[in-house]
Amino acid sequence: MIEGSPEFPRDPHPQWIAHMYAATSGEDHLGLASVSSDQILPMLSPTINVATVHPRYHGFYAFLLDEFWRRDLPRSPRAWIQFFRPRDFLYSIAMHLCDRDEHDVIGGVTGSRKTGPIAAREPATFDTTTNYIKEPLGGYGLYYRSVLAGLGLVYPGGPRLPYPVDVPTEKGKDLATTFRSEIEVTAYYQQDFDQDQAVVTIERVREYARAACLCRLRAPDATDGPILRDLFLEEPRETAPDRRATMRMLLDIADRTDGQPVDQGAFRQLVFFGTASNGSRYEPRGDLADTHTRWRLYQAREYYAFALTGMFVNLCDWGIEQGGDLRPLSLDAVADQVSAGLQFDRLAALLDLPGPGLDGSAPFDALLDWLVGVVGASAETFDETCGLDAPVNEDALYRLGRHFGEPASPHRRRSHDAREPLPPVRASGALDVSGMDGHLSLRRGRSPERLIASCARSARACGRARRRSSTSRIG
Ligand SMILES: [Zn+2]
Repeated sequence: MIEGSPEFPRDPHPQWIAHMYAATSGEDHLGLASVSSDQILPMLSPTINVATVHPRYHGFYAFLLDEFWRRDLPRSPRAWIQFFRPRDFLYSIAMHLCDRDEHDVIGGVTGSRKTGPIAAREPATFDTTTNYIKEPLGGYGLYYRSVLAGLGLVYPGGPRLPYPVDVPTEKGKDLATTFRSEIEVTAYYQQDFDQDQAVVTIERVREYARAACLCRLRAPDATDGPILRDLFLEEPRETAPDRRATMRMLLDIADRTDGQPVDQGAFRQLVFFGTASNGSRYEPRGDLADTHTRWRLYQAREYYAFALTGMFVNLCDWGIEQGGDLRPLSLDAVADQVSAGLQFDRLAALLDLPGPGLDGSAPFDALLDWLVGVVGASAETFDETCGLDAPVNEDALYRLGRHFGEPASPHRRRSHDAREPLPPVRASGALDVSGMDGHLSLRRGRSPERLIASCARSARACGRARRRSSTSRIG
């Protein structure tokens, strides 16, 4: 974009690329998370995603489905849900009561927000009818079902499909058999499992956990391990090579950064910049260049999506403060607000750089010239020169965005010292509610989603009040 050639004119302007997002209702207003999660990541890492971090769930859910089909029950979604929930609840409880030394499951247990505190109290018994998660089919419905279908473990069922409910495939039944063989000797399976309404003692839950826990998959004698490893490497045939390529790149990173921890932040930096704040470096081996380039573009997109979300948050924040949730604001006012937010002298101060004297009225060219100059590059060498140690780079801007989550109005701005050291990057990959998708996220007091939700509530309340007043006038 910086080069002044016919392909890269000196007056760049936004251009649409491939159309990837069909607008839907929901809370992903800019569509950025959806395109990443539903379209880009499935190309890089097919049928594996950050919400399905425990492969043993594949076996557990295949097992539950197989047990459902082995029984003489109505083949209806309702009957499947009724069968599923008590057994999934108890599994979730068990994941919190595993007492094996190697137990290190710290996240990704579905239903934990309810079952974690219940298990922590260590009551003598657990009632399997406890309502533990809103989604009718828990983590299966939310995350694992599509993955199981993608790996050929399940034939999806439902309206307009051949089966009324999901059915395990032959491969799914094989996996179910291995899971069953791990837990069939437990008293819970033999005494309580058959009943939808059961009261299970904590001793039985602990015994079940020792056999069934997610942490057991790594045991050399876990019978479901070989099947799952084969699935991971080979299925489905069309997309498994992409997954293997990503796996090879991860192993290559592990090999070349031997001795240095690679957490989410370091992974992003290594893939995008080739270096990380902890001093480790990464250059992919030759045959992984293509895979690495794809991941690098994905990380670039993450940084830009974070920036766009930040600007959207700022705009929503300002819009609400201007009463925009109750009456329209003019486009001129919106444009003025966006322009007023472009304070590059302030940005430079935050980055400990001399101010360039640019604001919202400056030409885009001037911004590009400043960036190239700050980094000490030419237009041709910008990408390779703008590394992690450059005074301004994507990661530094991301850290600033995380650190200075200020309200839009100047009167509500917190005071701060521009030279205050930046905190470590905390990418939100943990499996909590706001980070479930594993993207870089801006967690502020009010996210765009919350802002929009409050707008919707106000609008509904306003409508109700008007209806009431017009009704009383008519009356
Ligand atoms: Zn465990």
